[in-house]
Amino acid sequence: MVLRDMNNIVTLQPNTSDDTEHVDVLIVGAGISGIGAAHHLKEQCPGKSFLMLESKESYGGTWHTHTYPGVRSDSDLYTFGYRFKPWTGNPVAEADKILDYLEEAIEDDQIDEHIRYQHEVLRASWSSDQRRWLLEVRRKETGEIVRFSCNFLWMCQGYYHHAEGFTPDFEGMDSFKGRIVHPQTWPEDLDYTNKRVVVIGSGATAATLIPNMADDAAHITILQRSPTYFHTGENRNELADTLRELDLPEEWVHETVRRQLLAEQKEIMELSESNPELLKEELLKVVRSYVGEDFDVDTHFTPGYRPWQQRLAYVPDADLFKGIASGKVSVVTDHIDRFTENGILTKSGEELEADIIVTATGFNLSVMGDIPFEVDGAPVDFAKTFTYRGIMNTGLPNMAFMYGYLRTSWTMRVDLVCDFVCRLLNHMDSNGAQVCTPALREEDANMAPRPWLDLEEFNPGYMQRSLHLMPKQGDHEPWLFTNDYYTEKDQLPAADLGDGTLVFEGSTAATSSDWILKPGA
Ligand SMILES: Cc1cc2nc3c(=O)[nH]c(=O)nc-3n(C[C@H](O)[C@H](O)[C@H](O)COP(=O)(O)OP(=O)(O)OC[C@H]3O[C@@H](n4cnc5c(N)ncnc54)[C@H](O)[C@@H]3O)c2cc1C
Repeated sequence: MVLRDMNNIVTLQPNTSDDTEHVDVLIVGAGISGIGAAHHLKEQCPGKSFLMLESKESYGGTWHTHTYPGVRSDSDLYTFGYRFKPWTGNPVAEADKILDYLEEAIEDDQIDEHIRYQHEVLRASWSSDQRRWLLEVRRKETGEIVRFSCNFLWMCQGYYHHAEGFTPDFEGMDSFKGRIVHPQTWPEDLDYTNKRVVVIGSGATAATLIPNMADDAAHITILQRSPTYFHTGENRNELADTLRELDLPEEWVHETVRRQLLAEQKEIMELSESNPELLKEELLKVVRSYVGEDFDVDTHFTPGYRPWQQRLAYVPDADLFKGIASGKVSVVTDHIDRFTENGILTKSGEELEADIIVTATGFNLSVMGDIPFEVDGAPVDFAKTFTYRGIMNTGLPNMAFMYGYLRTSWTMRVDLVCDFVCRLLNHMDSNGAQVCTPALREEDANMAPRPWLDLEEFNPGYMQRSLHLMPKQGDHEPWLFTNDYYTEKDQLPAADLGDGTLVFEGSTAATSSDWILKPGA
């Protein structure tokens, strides 16, 4: 097998050597996606051997990485939790509660024995001769490079760089005498007691950390270039409380509340398209009711886009607005001219003095964990592939990846994709196929590529910056990635594996070494 190192030097590695550990399925990443994948594999493909490789020292991904004050979900956990594991706490949950839930999921299914922590996948290489993936992996504890091989590779690596967040290159950053921190790499020793804090950004992260810092800090200023839509509510679910009072099993409560919330979210999403002005007014009315009629809601809380083009940030119990109403938190909507010794100078000439500046400015998108991929020695450029249903890619054999929903909870898609992948694996087994590769049919050949996401529909900053790196969609099924739970929940389970877009090959029992299962096989 051929592996290419970072300097493009080609090295030959035997892929059947004793030091290569082989399994049927290798999962990369032990976040909410990878743990979900492991559960469904165990349940739906019990005969498959599998391992999970995780570069961190523990499970949880996002919920392990982020440690800033108050870090919590902005989705309710009835839908952000798995369909197979009831959520029993408050709808919006702090990171430690989500980690407890994931730990229980690992224990329930005895997944722990399948996870190799501190194993960072450095590169992945497919060999058509061997019909398997070879992964080069660094054991972070020792620095040792080890190899794993698998028949099927399942990427559950998330969508952003875990090592550091996105910080724009502001002029004069070096001259600032205080501390600059990014929420993604929150320093354990950061003491903000009685300090003046400026938080750049007003997304979900800012909305979480500001109320959680407000009691201790001297003052917090939110400095935003443009406003964000917020919605608020009590952090409890009335229906869940009622069902529990009736002593119903938690499985029923979970499923019923999930359905209720999904129906409500659908209504809001539809309203954001059919009558965005009405939804906008409803959202702003709630903000006004907390911050007071004198507050300039038009400038500070009225975005230039329609609701849901970016995720609606959730403010449980209106904590952010209460901070503003109390005077402890103020909002400045302006552009940054530069950093100064003492803080930030805005374009309109105001100097915001600060001891600490928090850059809540978002993520850096990571495509497939930035792992270099090769197929038979040729490097893979994911941007040149078409996605098959947002799960696989043209030209990449035996590989699926997990990309969750952006407007509905991420995990709602995890369960659906897992069902699909397990069905595919079982289909391959029952048809004696060893390889499955999405490929364009004759009728797809001239299909116009479309971007991975329609920025008109959904346009978070990290996606705007890096959309060009993502796989492309086509203009018809199955080359679409709608990111819409309400269509996919019916479409994915019914997806025809025999429509000719998945090319199945090989069987040890087959007479010719390569053969294609006919559509419908
Ligand atoms: C602060 C925050 C709050 C969020 N809240 C919500 C929410 O409320 N609702 C919602 O739907 N979404 C939310 N999201 C989005 C969130 O990231 C996803 O919903 C979900 O947690 C992603 O899970 P994941 O397992 O797919 O990826 P991740 O959580 O990113 O986990 C991926 C794992 O893969 C590992 N990995 C990556 N590359 C490699 C490699 N090369 N080798 C080995 N291991 C690797 C990483 O170390 C990581 O542990 C939030 C995101 C953030 C940052």
